Amino acid sequence: ITSSPPHISFRKKSSCTLLLMFLVARWAGRQTSGDSPPAIFNLDTCRLSSTQCSTLSSLHLRGHLSFHNTTEAARDWGRIKRLAPAGVLYPESVDDIVSLVRTAGLSRNLTVAAKGRGHSINGQAQALDGIVIEMSTLGGIKVMPQGDADCPVPYVDAAGGELWIDVLKATLKEGLAPRSWTDYLYLSVGGTLSNAGISGQTFRYGPEISNVLQLEVVTGKGELVICSPSKQPELFFAVLGGLGQFGIIITARIILERAPQQVRWIRAIYTDFQSFRRDQEMLISQTDMTKVFDYVEGFVIINSDNPYNGWKSVPFSPEHINNSMIPKDAGSVMYYIELMKGFDFINIHVTEQKVEKMLAPLNYIRSLRFTTDVSYFQFLNRIHDVELSLSSQGLWDVPHPWLNLFIPRSSISVFDSQVFKQLISRDFSGPILIYPINQDKWDKHASAVIPEERVFYLVALLRNALPSSGPGLKSQMDDNSKILRICHDLNCKQYFPTYNTPKQWEQHFGSRWQNFIRLKKMFDPRAILSPGQNIFCRNQILATSR
Ligand code: FAD
Repeated sequence: ITSSPPHISFRKKSSCTLLLMFLVARWAGRQTSGDSPPAIFNLDTCRLSSTQCSTLSSLHLRGHLSFHNTTEAARDWGRIKRLAPAGVLYPESVDDIVSLVRTAGLSRNLTVAAKGRGHSINGQAQALDGIVIEMSTLGGIKVMPQGDADCPVPYVDAAGGELWIDVLKATLKEGLAPRSWTDYLYLSVGGTLSNAGISGQTFRYGPEISNVLQLEVVTGKGELVICSPSKQPELFFAVLGGLGQFGIIITARIILERAPQQVRWIRAIYTDFQSFRRDQEMLISQTDMTKVFDYVEGFVIINSDNPYNGWKSVPFSPEHINNSMIPKDAGSVMYYIELMKGFDFINIHVTEQKVEKMLAPLNYIRSLRFTTDVSYFQFLNRIHDVELSLSSQGLWDVPHPWLNLFIPRSSISVFDSQVFKQLISRDFSGPILIYPINQDKWDKHASAVIPEERVFYLVALLRNALPSSGPGLKSQMDDNSKILRICHDLNCKQYFPTYNTPKQWEQHFGSRWQNFIRLKKMFDPRAILSPGQNIFCRNQILATSR
């Protein structure tokens, strides 16, 4: 062998590798899927190496793997990045996922990205020349209203590819619902749990990742593991907020509570940032549970009649607002607090009185308060109406250069004066969210990165690059860079972080970086999973660590 010319030894090596991969793939397929026939479509369009194509084509799957028409898997909500995968797996069993991950582990460079709804901004669920797993084909929602012997509290087991809207519909049938949400519910369970999942309930119950009892995960080694805070806790906490780096969430067990029938929904406008900020912080620090709202968010609005982010966007139909109602001293931007209190029809009068008492100490402009009652379902699904309206005008499927930030409380006033008051102009196209969150509701063991302050703010600048008006995508992304430069000195953290170099990731994770790498080596040592996050390169984790 030593005397063989290099090309011969390479050929021998590659044919050995081919044989080995083929045998292991057969083994992986058999182990997991019995003797079902291979389900590969359009093998002729496979643009991977012939070794990889034949290895993948020998997998025995219940679902199918397609090499054709991967356009959808190369697209996301951001419409900024397009990383075309080589193929898309539509799994119909957990074993399909196990087989794929094991097979990818045997290759030199194949990566795998679980895709929930693809509502990321920067290609996080994409996999250039890898395989995207379309998680929606592996559904399942099981509601346990009384829990069971091991877990005697109400819970739901939801597949990672299920949408939160469907989890809500299923749990409401039992009069129950999860406690912590995102604003928009057409997002997958696995996708939001890989980040955090936050909304106006987070101050009270923590993010969605603080409301998970157990996970069923396929690690980057292709192992199917059930984990919880007491069973394999390192994997459990690594996966929660772990940006898809440690395992694919097959099922999540989520805590449920009794759902109210109705909600009182309130919006109250402020012109003064300090009053707005103080009131929000008072609302989330209330310790008397009978006086706590069930949801607290805030928004920055443009001092204009723009129906999407000006003062016209605040009243609930059929109420209206006009220029004469806006105080003369209002600046270029104003603010409003959004609140919700749930109740049952039988308690409506008591709730009315309670809510009035809770609102009394707030310093909003008295003539600019708006109130409505809707069902709990309508409230939680409120963004869907916006989606339908924007879709009908062709304004939903446009580029979204969104910027989401966690800003320490001590920096939020500077952020207001340097960003909201100076950089936000009338042609800003999209909503701006700003609300405080209690840090103690986040589990420190989970992977999500947040500022090191007792209270921090979510600021979400949710711009759309409209086809016919307003600043273009490039100019909006330049604005984001300016804001990120301001943030650098304010100790902000990006939510849905986007970075290009290991150095930037190290700065993002701070003192937690080495542990993140340690966990990666433990659960996905070949860096197969979620390459679109751009944190690790395939097979190069060691190079990243010191
Ligand atoms: P994808 O984009 O498909 O995936 C995101 C990441 O998770 C990728 O890295 C992917 O590989 C990984 N992943 C996906 N599924 C799994 C799985 N099963 N196991 C392991 N990894 C997986 N977020 C909030 O917190 N609060 C909000 O209020 C909120 N509102 C939003 C409103 C809109 C209109 C949109 C578009 C997004 C909003 N988001 C919000 C952001 C959203 O939570 C994230 O973009 C989330 O990642 C989207 O879920 P997805 O199912 O589309 O994930």
